[in-house]
Amino acid sequence: MKANYLDDLNERQREAVISLKGPLMIIAGAGSGKTKVLTTRIAHLMRNGVDAFNILALTFTNKAAKEMKERVEKILGGNEARNLYIGTFHSVFARLLRADAPKLGYPGDFTIYDADDAKSVVKTIINELNLDDKHYKPNLVYNRISAAKNSLMGPEEYQHDYYIQQEDQRASRPLTGKIYDMYAKRCFKNGAMDFDDLLFKMYVLLKSFPEVLAKYQHKFQYIMIDEYQDTNPAQYEIVKLLGAVHENICVVGDDAQSIYSFRGATIQNILQFEKDYDDVKVVKLEQNYRSTKSILNVANEVIAKNKGQIEKNLWTDNAEGDKIKLIRTNTDNEEGKFVSDTIAEQKLRNHYNNRDFCILYRTNAQSRAFEESLRRLAIPYRIFGGLSFYQRKEIKDFIAYLRVIMNSRDEEAIKRIINYPVRGIGKTTIEKVSIYANDQNITFWQVLENARDFGFKGGTLDAIDNFVTMIQSFRIMLDKHNAYEVAVQVGKSTNMVKELFNDKTTEGLARYENVQELLNSIKEFTETPTEDGELLDNKSLGIYLQQITLLTDADNTNDENSDVVKLMTIHAAKGLEFPVVFTVGLEESLFPSGMSINSREELEEERRLFYVAVTRAKSRLFLTYANSRYRFGQLQQNEPSRFLDEMPENFVDRSYAGGGLRNTGSVGGGVSWGGMFDKKRTTPAPAASNPLARTAPKPAAAPVSTHVPTPGFTADDPATMEAGMDVEHQKFGFGKILNLEGAPNNRIATVMFPQAGGEKKIMLNYAKLMIV
Ligand code: ATP
Ligand code: MG
Repeated sequence: MKANYLDDLNERQREAVISLKGPLMIIAGAGSGKTKVLTTRIAHLMRNGVDAFNILALTFTNKAAKEMKERVEKILGGNEARNLYIGTFHSVFARLLRADAPKLGYPGDFTIYDADDAKSVVKTIINELNLDDKHYKPNLVYNRISAAKNSLMGPEEYQHDYYIQQEDQRASRPLTGKIYDMYAKRCFKNGAMDFDDLLFKMYVLLKSFPEVLAKYQHKFQYIMIDEYQDTNPAQYEIVKLLGAVHENICVVGDDAQSIYSFRGATIQNILQFEKDYDDVKVVKLEQNYRSTKSILNVANEVIAKNKGQIEKNLWTDNAEGDKIKLIRTNTDNEEGKFVSDTIAEQKLRNHYNNRDFCILYRTNAQSRAFEESLRRLAIPYRIFGGLSFYQRKEIKDFIAYLRVIMNSRDEEAIKRIINYPVRGIGKTTIEKVSIYANDQNITFWQVLENARDFGFKGGTLDAIDNFVTMIQSFRIMLDKHNAYEVAVQVGKSTNMVKELFNDKTTEGLARYENVQELLNSIKEFTETPTEDGELLDNKSLGIYLQQITLLTDADNTNDENSDVVKLMTIHAAKGLEFPVVFTVGLEESLFPSGMSINSREELEEERRLFYVAVTRAKSRLFLTYANSRYRFGQLQQNEPSRFLDEMPENFVDRSYAGGGLRNTGSVGGGVSWGGMFDKKRTTPAPAASNPLARTAPKPAAAPVSTHVPTPGFTADDPATMEAGMDVEHQKFGFGKILNLEGAPNNRIATVMFPQAGGEKKIMLNYAKLMIV
């Protein structure tokens, strides 16, 4: 256990950490240690005897949650931290809803619709109602529904809200409420919840079932929320309900970083907190530990242009550091080249690794130019968010099969795959099935199962029957086979893998590789032991699906330690920090977004976004903009962003790129840029042939096992174990080793645990097994 963890804090931070009881609000600027305080506070609570099971911590991304758990573990040692409820609102509530969803009429293994699935349902309904999709744009209608749910407004209330009705009338979408109603019923019938439902239904559950509310009020004696400024009304109300008995709620936030009002988050939540509870303790943190003086001064000065802020005086003891570099390029491609070349140069000059760099943009579509130029220099990178792996067509198709296997009510998934790969079930048939299902108020699947009774004949009937039989055979597999085995069978029986394999185009190859990658990841999932070190034979497809649906944009990282340059939107970068940051595309109509310059509120949100971008940087910050760029298929000429004019002159180097970049000559000294922009596009050169892209020396190999013994329970060395030995497991009690298999450094024991229901496979690297 780390004894001196309180010594790492300044006085105010310490004060916040040791105030364990009652409502506590920490309002502070970027990089002042809010998240650090929250984490340390969790450790301190546990150190003071609070059971991890009674602590709920809500964060913005799964990545943040994981980091928090790791940090608590580091402070406390042992593995108690795994019992904490830490996660995003959505993932924690999904977990809680699994237990109680049947109370609301949903199956316990309800499907979670992501935004694409949800929009597809909305689109279907708009078509069914024969509405003009010029007015009823599925995207817009979906956003209205989403906003309603996040304000805890059901279809009934929506249809009876005078102002909302007026608004929809004005937008020539008077039937939006009806669509919402049909959408809600359709999801319910399909046994599905969309992302917003995970909040909305959680609220309904707590409101409608006092015994459920009481259960969780009792359980979650301490509640902590990071990035509180971005909570929406649904999240706010749920937290208020959960915390109403113990009132041990600690919220942490920064009004200057509120960047989700478009999703219904409201800054009022921060202002309201003090009114909601008596005796709220408010702590302000003012020392920034993250950034240089130059970076912080720029951030402070720009954000000061916003009106109506909670007053803060953010300062730092850090060095002044380099001036912020402002670079203009002619085109977006040149912008890409500048950034990649600068990364190569900085790696040489200042010995950075790839992972020290982050490229931040306003919209996902901007990533392309950077990807191309990074590839050309063979600099490894990864895009976070955007069209993530799981949003690719072939992956969604494959996963749709898995979803149908798990939940026959999942109509969206069925429709996605019923004729993929092509099996002769055409659009008309699908429409008929939909109509019959709606008329009879049964599910789409039930119509398929009884296709003959619904009058389908000949080839169509055969095709449907074959499809149904195939899915049923997969379902039968669920009992005896794990997620991976089922998935492999799906790939084979459907011919999907073969079909992709036979497509020898570059795209076909990429798709084939993606599906293989998916299968790999499912295999990895089934081979990862549970937190108790138990290796389940039958690790469920259901858990797998839930896990992947809940991956948020910022979480498509999986291994954050790999040495790659990171590319992401500013929204996804919230809470993160990087030694060197490039904030790109600083042009009017792009950043600030052209859609957000018509009101002060919107513009101020864009400015807060700029503030978030700037404050991600620790040591160096580059800001770039292009004179022209292709957007929406057209060449656009844009003015530099207004935010650039708002920066203080003395901390900004506006002549960094000089004229050199646009012609030839040198930029930033040292490296010659001449001719670089004229090179023809080529496939990436192998790293070794490119002197600028030297890979960083690999760190010394870390120990493989993450095993940390719990105090009082010392696990024995796996190498000394043999079949026939009596052992004790921390959770399963006494048992006998029946068999040992696997490589010496990754042994798997089959152990008979009489008190824990029989044989279990245990991964010795993870499990706490003691020879008795
Ligand atoms: P953001 O507003 O961006 O979420 P934050 O307020 O949550 O930022 P943290 O991420 O907790 O800030 O901390 C910023 C950096 O400062 C981290 O690298 C953290 O380890 C460091 N830090 C925080 N407090 C201290 C301290 N007292 N001494 C040394 N370093 C600190
Ligand atoms: Mg933070």
